[in-house]
Amino acid sequence: MLKAKRLDLAVFLDQAVIIRSMKDSKDPGSVAPKIIPRAAHNVSRKDISKSALKVLYRLHEAGYQSFLVGGCVRDTMLGLHPKDFDVATNATPDEVRALFGNCRLIGRRFRLAHVRFGREIIETATFRAAANHVDDDSAHDHEGRIIRDNVYGTIDEDVWRRDFTCNALYYNIADFSIWDYVDGVKDVKRKRIVMIGDPQKRLREDPVRMLRAVRFAAKLGFTIDDTVVKAMRPNAALLSNVPAARIFDEFLKLFQSGFAERTFELLWEHHLFGEMFPATEEELLKDRKFAAFVRAALRSTDRRVAAGKSVTPMFLIGVFLWLPIKKLAEVLRAKEKMTESQSLGLAAYEIVARQQGRISMPRRFTVPMREMLALQPRFTTVRGKRAMNFLEHRRFRAAYDFMALQAEVGLLDNELAKFWTDVQTQSPDERAQSFELQSHSGEKRQPRRRRRRKRPQVS
Ligand code: ATP
Ligand code: MG
Repeated sequence: MLKAKRLDLAVFLDQAVIIRSMKDSKDPGSVAPKIIPRAAHNVSRKDISKSALKVLYRLHEAGYQSFLVGGCVRDTMLGLHPKDFDVATNATPDEVRALFGNCRLIGRRFRLAHVRFGREIIETATFRAAANHVDDDSAHDHEGRIIRDNVYGTIDEDVWRRDFTCNALYYNIADFSIWDYVDGVKDVKRKRIVMIGDPQKRLREDPVRMLRAVRFAAKLGFTIDDTVVKAMRPNAALLSNVPAARIFDEFLKLFQSGFAERTFELLWEHHLFGEMFPATEEELLKDRKFAAFVRAALRSTDRRVAAGKSVTPMFLIGVFLWLPIKKLAEVLRAKEKMTESQSLGLAAYEIVARQQGRISMPRRFTVPMREMLALQPRFTTVRGKRAMNFLEHRRFRAAYDFMALQAEVGLLDNELAKFWTDVQTQSPDERAQSFELQSHSGEKRQPRRRRRRKRPQVS
């Protein structure tokens, strides 16, 4: 079904009837869109969320322009299911709010309307003018990063502030046509990530666009255009200026969308991974087994996403930081007397603190991650009550997965991993035997030795 749809797309696009052609001029504002009528493209209302359609229709009926825009148009053309639907309109946020009871305005720098239908939110944005379109100097900082991007505009202006041509297609609810100012349909068809405007300038404006290029390339199987690749190299280091909270948001999209392994390869190829995880990059360059471990974790994350299982960022970040943490833990232990577990906990604290400068991870992830790592030495003890009780630990599952992955790539003894796999499904008696405890039900059980209590002193 998906395949058929993709083939259809090629046919549709070949037949695309272009009603209004683009003017020659490259000057934004003087460019008219190609308008591709419904009969010549494959974006169908049955593939659009009912909630998004409601928003689109209501805006249209109230006399506003209303379009679907961005990833949802791109994905629908490709026969994929968009994860969200974004609406763009010439209605101001207040005008949008007046039309919908279920609407909240969010954002300070730029106000957006969120129209809610149960759990689904339709983000509805007013057309904006590109920063450079407004006032070149005051809108950028000294490195060219956008600092002001908050001026309403028309659709003719809105298109130029978008990142890639495949992300700049507008689906018009008035007649179901697609407006294409930047030859985005052609690039979707060619499967290429092409920057709108000068790649150097656009990457300097917002270095996160480098990560976005990689994300879309990995997810869609697109090729990043050479002009963009060339511009990435000299600008990769600018990622370190991006607020660490924003990089964390992007990290989630990069590594939890089901294409983590491919994303990693592309980040590595384009020298972006080290900008996010410098300590990890250093170890990856030196240690093949660690590299295999990272790969295995990425693959397992992708498998989980494909199977609809939950994924937590703390696991993958724990994997990325594992070797730097282990190494620091050894240094700490050489200096001061402490258990392996304590040294891992301390080292994790320190390495995570250093990492926060690049990617700020909320405590709800770093705390369990530290626990998961500090628990690793406990797998080496397989006898006694304390070892058996480890199975009941609330972080056992994560710690076990982490350990098993190490065994998978030869970083740990496979027998040990097998032991911990087996005991999980054993009966209480078998389990007691495995841990070399006396059986729970058996007669052989020794009477428990009473603890000697200190007698209270009678004066
Ligand atoms: P997906 O939702 O599949 O991750 P998307 O393309 O919809 O992909 P969003 O982050 O939802 O990506 O953004 C919606 C649209 O907003 C994009 O398609 C793009 O047109 C525009 N956009 C988002 N982020 C940027 C950016 N950093 N620079 C320029 N345009 C952007
Ligand atoms: Mg989107």
